[in-house]
Amino acid sequence: AQLDTLDLVVLAVLLLGTIAYFTKGTYWAVAKDPYGNSLAHANGAAKKGKSRNIIEKLEESGKNCVVFYGSQTGTAEDYASRLAKEGQSRFGLKTMVADLEDYDYENLDTFPSDKVAFFVLATYGEGEPTDNAVDFYEFVHAEDPSFSGEGDGEKPLSNFKFVAFGLGNNTYEHYNSMVRNVNKAFEALGATRIGAAGEGDDGAGTMEEDFLAWKEPMWTALAESMGLEEREAVYEPVFDVVERPDLDPEEDQVYLGEPNKNHLEGTSKGPYNANNPYIAPIAESREIFTVKDRNCLHMEIDLSGSNLSYTTGDHVAVWPTNAGKEVDRFLTITGLAPKRHTVISVKGLDPTAKVPFPSPTTYDAAVRYHMEVCAPVSRQFVSTIAQFSPNDEIKAEMTRIGNDKDYFHEIVIERSLNIAQLLEIMSNGEPWSKVPFSLFIEGIHKIQPRYYSISSSSLVQKDKVSVTAVVESTHKPNAPHIVKGVTTNYLLALKQKQYGDPDPDPHGLNYALNGPRNKYDGIHVPVHIRHSNFKLPSDPSKPVIMVGPGTGVAPFRGFVQERAAQARAGEKVGKTVLFFGCRRRTEDFLYEKEWEQWKQDLGDSFELHTAFSREGPNKVYVQHKLQENAKEINELLQQKAYFYVCGDAANMAREVNSLLGKIIAEQRGLPESKGEDVVKAMRAANQYQEDVW
Ligand code: FAD
Repeated sequence: AQLDTLDLVVLAVLLLGTIAYFTKGTYWAVAKDPYGNSLAHANGAAKKGKSRNIIEKLEESGKNCVVFYGSQTGTAEDYASRLAKEGQSRFGLKTMVADLEDYDYENLDTFPSDKVAFFVLATYGEGEPTDNAVDFYEFVHAEDPSFSGEGDGEKPLSNFKFVAFGLGNNTYEHYNSMVRNVNKAFEALGATRIGAAGEGDDGAGTMEEDFLAWKEPMWTALAESMGLEEREAVYEPVFDVVERPDLDPEEDQVYLGEPNKNHLEGTSKGPYNANNPYIAPIAESREIFTVKDRNCLHMEIDLSGSNLSYTTGDHVAVWPTNAGKEVDRFLTITGLAPKRHTVISVKGLDPTAKVPFPSPTTYDAAVRYHMEVCAPVSRQFVSTIAQFSPNDEIKAEMTRIGNDKDYFHEIVIERSLNIAQLLEIMSNGEPWSKVPFSLFIEGIHKIQPRYYSISSSSLVQKDKVSVTAVVESTHKPNAPHIVKGVTTNYLLALKQKQYGDPDPDPHGLNYALNGPRNKYDGIHVPVHIRHSNFKLPSDPSKPVIMVGPGTGVAPFRGFVQERAAQARAGEKVGKTVLFFGCRRRTEDFLYEKEWEQWKQDLGDSFELHTAFSREGPNKVYVQHKLQENAKEINELLQQKAYFYVCGDAANMAREVNSLLGKIIAEQRGLPESKGEDVVKAMRAANQYQEDVW
């Protein structure tokens, strides 16, 4: 009898899925008139000003290759730029890079056969497109005949040539689903893929090597298909960097780190989003670990008056600033330190090249606020920069590192070097003054906001988001230094400033906490909000099970805070079960007092199960606690409990996923594979939700 409810849930999910499967295609086919009227579309887009017509754009700018990217954290965008660059320098392709969000796709059926489109597509979270690829993906998905049920009809993309590379993480169930689905749809529509559809795996830590290994045979296939001849690659700068002695850095039009014009003019206004941060006051901050050698920050960021809103379970994005110590290191080793405050104008030498920061600016501001100079270095970048080495000996060594995967690993990866540290070591401190600044802009990622799962409830504190962040500080055995996380150490310094710490900078990192032109003075930090699908059931009487070890507990602090408030308000609140794990009760038990307080509001409906990994002779993790409570978990799931996992994607989330399958199978007397199917069905029905990183 225990099986009945579950079977019904599974059946209902399958049925809903089937209905969605059949209706979506027909709906789109009728509503969209796919490929029916591309000319009308093209004209319509052109009228809006900036053309969203990629074919027109290619023809206007004399290009025969567009490299589209769907990127969340900047890696796909970086790979796209590198492919465009390489296509141009090695094969004479006329390339441009394009954000998927900036174009329409209705006219791909008229894409000329002598041109090619690349798609570099990251898969995000549970098989989702990145934010900038949502519209593109919906369009392609809806056109896919195998999806819309249209079968063997016309092949509208039979002239269309494409190249595809995906960025994914094999610890997720829908590994590289973006590139796989887009590839499948394009092929079903008659398009010709050149080379293999590459897949990079962040889970195995082989992304860069997967990319490098994929692109060589792809270039050979592309050269053959388009009749291209390889030539000796000559470096051609993408950007024109002009020093402006006529401009004083303090002049009004010079960007000293302001993210856009409104911020520069001091008239920053909403809507605040991924292109326009809100400079938010930090209302309160405190340390929540009780050990000396590790830090975890709790911060309250005030959104009032910004028009930014959030709901419990969303993410806040923090825009970091590089540490002064690293900015100095970079400017010194590149020989730019003496002119760090010289004003520069940066322009794309080609109209399709997008400068990744506003200009005119200064070397100092570009490096401090816009370039990810602390990140790991790519092997390809080492190869490219080798030609600008201070002397031939260094050049030979850099070339070797760039060409030899294992040697690169030994010299760069195992020592956790960033670009400036590598250059310092290679030249023994002699400045690398021959490297064009354009090459650094091209080769170093644009700095990325970091996301944090909001640890407060929007019901309780509508205008204030809480952040729970562990300060990153890692030391590999062979590394000459400790790697300090960019954003979390910046936040740590802000916290120390807020406390009026007389020594606000224990690591000598020296952040410019006041921001450009003192605009962040008084403890401010640039942020925006990213909405997520990680949500409590709208009915508070539904039971929930939450698994969040370490900072994975962040969103669950918000969930429990919300349910405690609902209980106080007299609402009926369902079972609220939290599994939390950390090292020791006395070191890093996050929010210990707050759970006790909320327990008073929630009474027996709140249960907290703790796992302390370093207290006893054996390590205890949340997984052990789940197993111990298998019976209750199963019963709650049969009452349609929602199951949530947050935190470490690589190990914990994956293990919890398979453990839950096992628990269900054991408790219900099913074979293990059936338990897994139940978890899959729960995911499909949004009854199993993950917020992992
Ligand atoms: P970074 O500078 O980005 O460094 C990160 C790590 O990369 C370092 O620890 C180091 O191991 C490695 N690294 C950096 N540079 C090098 C180098 N040169 N060589 C070798 N290795 C290097 N975190 C939380 O604490 N709380 C949360 O609630 C939270 N929620 C998140 C939600 C989402 C959706 C996502 C995607 C992430 C979340 N994170 C959360 C993680 C957070 O976004 C940051 O990744 C984290 O705080 C580290 O940022 P950082 O800038 O301090 O470190």
